[in-house]
Amino acid sequence: MNKFDLEEENKEIVRRYKSLLRSCNKDINRTDKRLIRKAFNIAVEAHKDVRRNSGEPYIFHPISVAQIVAKDLGLDAISIACALLHDVVEDTHYTLDDIEKLFDSNIRQIIDGLTKISEFSSEQDISKQAENFRKMLLTISDDVRVILIKLADRLNNMQTLDSMSRIKQQKIASETLYIYAPLAHRLGLYTIKTELEDLGLKHTEPEIYRDIARQLNETKNARVQYIKRFTKPLKSSLNEHNLKFSIKGRPKSIFSIRKKMKMQGIPFREVYDKFAIRIILESELKNEKSDCWKTYSVITDHYQPNPDRLRDWISTPKANGYESLHTTLMGPGGKWVEVQIRTKRMDEIAEKGYAAHWKYKQSGKATEGNLEDWVNQIRELLENPESNAIEFIEEFKLNLFSKEIFVFTPNGELRTLPKGASALDFAFDIHTQLGATCLGCKVNAKIVPLSHKLKSGDQVEVISSQKQKPKKSWLNYVITAKAKNKIKSSLKDEKKRIADEGKEILQRKLKSIKLTYNDRIINELANYLKYKTSFDLFYDIGIGVVHNIMIKDFAKNRNSWYQYFKNKIYKKSPQKIEVKEEPKYDTLVFGANQEKLNYSYSKCCSPIPGDDVFGFTTIREGIKIHRQDCPNAIRLQSNYAYRILETKWIDSTNKQSVAIIHIKGIDSVGLINEITKILSTNLNVNIQSMNISSSDGVFDGIITVLILDKNNLKKAIENIKLVNGVTSISRKFKTS
Ligand code: MN
Repeated sequence: MNKFDLEEENKEIVRRYKSLLRSCNKDINRTDKRLIRKAFNIAVEAHKDVRRNSGEPYIFHPISVAQIVAKDLGLDAISIACALLHDVVEDTHYTLDDIEKLFDSNIRQIIDGLTKISEFSSEQDISKQAENFRKMLLTISDDVRVILIKLADRLNNMQTLDSMSRIKQQKIASETLYIYAPLAHRLGLYTIKTELEDLGLKHTEPEIYRDIARQLNETKNARVQYIKRFTKPLKSSLNEHNLKFSIKGRPKSIFSIRKKMKMQGIPFREVYDKFAIRIILESELKNEKSDCWKTYSVITDHYQPNPDRLRDWISTPKANGYESLHTTLMGPGGKWVEVQIRTKRMDEIAEKGYAAHWKYKQSGKATEGNLEDWVNQIRELLENPESNAIEFIEEFKLNLFSKEIFVFTPNGELRTLPKGASALDFAFDIHTQLGATCLGCKVNAKIVPLSHKLKSGDQVEVISSQKQKPKKSWLNYVITAKAKNKIKSSLKDEKKRIADEGKEILQRKLKSIKLTYNDRIINELANYLKYKTSFDLFYDIGIGVVHNIMIKDFAKNRNSWYQYFKNKIYKKSPQKIEVKEEPKYDTLVFGANQEKLNYSYSKCCSPIPGDDVFGFTTIREGIKIHRQDCPNAIRLQSNYAYRILETKWIDSTNKQSVAIIHIKGIDSVGLINEITKILSTNLNVNIQSMNISSSDGVFDGIITVLILDKNNLKKAIENIKLVNGVTSISRKFKTS
């Protein structure tokens, strides 16, 4: 190995190790130092003679990861030691038992977590990646440090990607953009997220990356001049108000500039906010809020703010703990300039995320609770074996990117939900059982249907009934992954239960017409009635659509039909048995009220009737219909949730009509329960909307329902008349 100057290399290893120690938190003690030293020695020994693709000694990598863990994340000595050891079990002769013997069970557990999330090999397809990602998130529940060290590992791999083959670069970089950058974002690690994104872009779209980097560089001087001109008057005013501060002007990341160019379809020079000004205040904890707003007031004396672009994450921090005050001001030369105002403490949290929370844990702010909630949410999802890994990630990402709303329980407890969440999402968020039995909700004391979209600040109370059960249509009302998964698994259970019941009914029926119940007979019957599987047959018997007469017919025709069947099938005639006719879909309807609107199909996925679809409101071309599995769907749904229209196929020959019922009575929650129960559970009438107002204990309700025939409605009205407290009920013919 003369190719390498070993002595020089060893000196370099020691230099890097010393620099690592300098990056550690000032207050680490001697025990901590001993632990780091020990981990370092073992790692050096374990990886000796091994080199990375670049030709460098392998140990450079764990040292760099440890450096990120110490410096960028500010984590503790255990994390630093684990970062040094992170590849030891996977790549060398050391076992987890060795690690436990050398250190302790805690370190073993973290290394185990890191080893489980093995590197994604380049042959792996997307579903394997998804499965790996899920495994990784599962480890959050063990120790969040595993995820943080894994992110540091990924960052260093991205920093050293140049020596990899082109194909590997592409693969690792797109995976980074797909999974790791959003994860870093959600954890509030903005510095790492930005670097991952920029490196990701550099390796997935190198020309574009270089082009933007070059233009940023060319415009640097002008930008610096402008920032100086913009901040000069601010500095003197802030000084006059005795505020201690520093001002930074930072260019936006290349990735975010690229995103803007792409989303708005504009060239580089038209992206107006290529930089942001950050004012960082030195402020005591108790003065933080007032100092930030004082600063806001000082700077808006100089420049006109855009009222639509004020973001106050100080009064309500983001779920990941981010706190800051953002405003956009009209600067010299008519340019909009974004200004971020925050204190040093807030800035550190924004840069280092979770780690900084540990540091400020004693500060009395409950920011940590939110992260805990988030980790819990993820854990619940992961524990659901029903959900498919890719679907899970898509939904997870959807929840990552979408904005949040804040709502309150009747006790005033704050809950965070993704924007667009419905009353039903809220019920499932509180408790699975509450979601499953939810009849409706009271939002700010008004009764609303399950599909009602919540807004920040709403106070929500769930109305439930033990008789209520999840229904298929509910899937259209919810957007959170938790609610979706719980509804799906409950529907599956329900279907199986009904099929089991149907099977028993069939056994009795066959016995009464003197036919033995066995597989052959069941197959014959299923074929005769044109079912694809016996399960479908059992299910339909269970819900009562297979009538006795059909089974009797089968018994009567069995012999002759059996001959016919034999001729058809066993002579291998090319003709297939007809399958049961699919429901006919021919009309699209939109929104909770199933309105008919003009629309056209999108070219990117060309949906056909019956496909799972959604409507997207475009500016020039009206409503465009996309398939739910369209490659563009996730992007549209995450970036433009407010432009998505709930869309459903209906069979226009199956005439459902809308009826409006007007009910008056004496106000009580029990009364509403009774009425909704009668409408939705007993008579298969679909509630479309409910508007109920009440004053002085008297309520007045307009309920819009969908009915198949008038008899159903008549029965419903008669039953509602019998409910205690109802004083009048009538049908209306127009909403007025
Ligand atoms: Mn590694």
